[in-house]
Amino acid sequence: MKRDLSRTPYAWLQEASIAIDGRGVFCITLLMLASICSNVARAARIEHVVLISVDGLPGSVLQSLIANDVVGDYAGFAQLASGATTFNAHADWTHTTTLPNHISMLTGRPVSQPAGQATDVHHGYTSNTSPAPTDTIHNVGNPNVAYVESVYDVLYRSGVSSAMYTSKNKFAIFEQSYNAADGPQNPVHMNDLIGRYVFSASGSPLNASSMHSQFLSDIGVSHFQFSFVHYRDPDTAGHSFGWESAEWIDAVKRVDGYLRELLNIVESDPVLLDKTVLILTADHGGTGGTHVDATEPLNYTVPFFVWGAGVSPGTDLYAINATTRTDPAVTRPDYNSIGQPIRNSDSGNLALGLLGLEPVAGSTINVQQDLAISEPETLGEMIPCLAGPNIGTAPAGCLNVEFQQADLDGDGDVDLADFIWLPENPQP
Ligand SMILES: [Zn+2]
Repeated sequence: MKRDLSRTPYAWLQEASIAIDGRGVFCITLLMLASICSNVARAARIEHVVLISVDGLPGSVLQSLIANDVVGDYAGFAQLASGATTFNAHADWTHTTTLPNHISMLTGRPVSQPAGQATDVHHGYTSNTSPAPTDTIHNVGNPNVAYVESVYDVLYRSGVSSAMYTSKNKFAIFEQSYNAADGPQNPVHMNDLIGRYVFSASGSPLNASSMHSQFLSDIGVSHFQFSFVHYRDPDTAGHSFGWESAEWIDAVKRVDGYLRELLNIVESDPVLLDKTVLILTADHGGTGGTHVDATEPLNYTVPFFVWGAGVSPGTDLYAINATTRTDPAVTRPDYNSIGQPIRNSDSGNLALGLLGLEPVAGSTINVQQDLAISEPETLGEMIPCLAGPNIGTAPAGCLNVEFQQADLDGDGDVDLADFIWLPENPQP
């Protein structure tokens, strides 16, 4: 429920911001503060989110490839990394395998029960093999959760168009869990929650090129509001030839080609242009010929890039999320640690928040949707989120993501104290 602001002392300021929107400049003077003047600009409206998972991509290795790129082999990755970015996000704490991490991304839950936390927090799906036809996340995963909600439940309830493009057939677990047309496999919702589900792989070793081509042609027509896209190439090459082998490098370059083609569409299609955010992460990294050791940094360290509408360019994600996330440096914090790293599993609730939607029910990771993708840069971007002291929810006209961004002092509300921290003001 959105709050009714009409009776709060902050209503006048919100109304004033609407009244001066056309004029473009708004100045207020606050006790104890110098005059604050800023251009009034509405934050970008995000209408499309593409969540990209590159299977088997260690963050530190990708960072090195981009840094040493002289001929543009990684221009697509580099462009996505030019937004709000870290190369030091983490995978799940107990599992650095494919299906468990992708289920965490799309459900916002850890794979296994964190010590001392409730028994219904984790999704509990630890298998990484092709599911049996009757398997679902619900009947194989955590027995204490009858139905594990996903981003697709929220999207379906909200009438938001969705798609899932995968390049490994074991992703059928999502089709079976969220797209079953009949009751027994989906007892709660009984609906096709995933708007368009596509699995395709081709080549030898198998790669995502056929799936990618299908995705490009489909998004150009359907303009999905949310799409999840999975590129298997580095993982498959890593298992066949070893991570960082010549074949693995070629696979990463091939993914870069996919990204450049997707970026071309996003930057040329008028429906997508300036209204789309791309999120790129990985389920896990890899070293040698595998990635199963969850304590190995090359396995658990993954990139997390956010690029597009409303994203501050050239921004370190940890720097703009200093009040809610902590760069783990070389450590591996568990889910109970004070100061959580950014995780690949922040991505699902981030995508929902950017689309103005509620978080996944039952999720714990980024359930506050407080992973910020930009700093509020102007007073005009702050005004719609102004709610008042000790009011922890976003008012109408302010996305949860924007509310968290506007809480510049990190005390859980957006009040006049936050204006002290605007970039144009001297810091106290
Ligand atoms: Zn994987």
